[in-house]
Amino acid sequence: MSNKEVEKVHLLIIGSGPAGYTAAIYAARANMKPVLYQGIQPGGQLTITTEVENYPGYPDGIQGPEMMVNFEKQAARMGADIRYGMATKVDFSKLPYRVEIDEEKWIEADAVIISTGASAKWLGLESEQRYNGFGVSACAVCDGFFFKGKEVAIVGAGDTAAEEALYLSKLCTTVHMIVRRDAMRASKVMQDRVLATPNIIVYWNSETDEILGSHKVETVRIKNIKDNTTKEVAISGFFVAIGHKPNSDIFKGFIDMDETGYILTIPGTSKTNLEGVFAAGDVQDKNYRQAVTAAGSGCMAALDAERYLNTK
Ligand code: NDP
Repeated sequence: MSNKEVEKVHLLIIGSGPAGYTAAIYAARANMKPVLYQGIQPGGQLTITTEVENYPGYPDGIQGPEMMVNFEKQAARMGADIRYGMATKVDFSKLPYRVEIDEEKWIEADAVIISTGASAKWLGLESEQRYNGFGVSACAVCDGFFFKGKEVAIVGAGDTAAEEALYLSKLCTTVHMIVRRDAMRASKVMQDRVLATPNIIVYWNSETDEILGSHKVETVRIKNIKDNTTKEVAISGFFVAIGHKPNSDIFKGFIDMDETGYILTIPGTSKTNLEGVFAAGDVQDKNYRQAVTAAGSGCMAALDAERYLNTK
């Protein structure tokens, strides 16, 4: 261990999405004096969405970034110590656990809540980033409603893409599904449902050549990679569903994960394989991935941490 500054804290929360802030609200109210590091994207994935209409308690909806500012304010008002900074390394080999911040200092904590979230994978097109929030989305459940009665495209062929294509097919007139191979990765039952849905058109062996529009998404150019032909389709929404990556790399070797990096928790709890380390939100959830489920699991993590710390 280098001779960097070491700061001792009681409870450390890593990450600032709905899970981390909810954990901070509960932990601060329970006088656990939580210190929360926000990471490079304070507020997490909700800060890159537009309107959130399905979070209970907001009858008129709320903008994702505004909601996360409210979460932060509430946690701060309860007394959470919220700091800008990124966890860059951990040493969970012995208690008290150590987490390196910005490669500059160590935080030594009696308990740790990991709520580092997940990041949607993107295709890597410049236009995809340009229209993000202006027709491009990585979450059909969050944003599909805005394209009610319109045509949309979706890229991907896993269970998420299949599920989201089916979700969109109930709202939109036509769903153009762009699949890069001649087969789908999704489970058979999901594939069957997609293929049996009349308003989902599957483009096999195809990739997104370009997303076009003046200020928002208007057209997608789909390229068939077998015969090199392209086709332009008028759409209003473009959904990317090619998987998520949990932000769990720095915990590898200490915390049990599944083969794709999602942290494993003891079912019905936020407990990881290490006592005193808890996980909440999308970093441990590949199924639901909703703001409200993340917030709920953040609450669980704070309560689990409180019980743990009370036994110390
Ligand atoms: P997956 O990794 O399973 O699938 C990703 C899909 O995106 C694949 O079809 C892949 O194509 C495609 N893809 C990846 N990169 C690109 C690219 N650059 N361009 C075009 N296409 C691309 O991710 P999911 O999010 O779908 O699922 C993750 C896990 O969660 C899976 O285990 C899944 O089963 C599970 N899940 C389960 C659900 C359920 O049971 N209800 C619902 C949702 C997810 P290719 O096949 O060619 O690699």
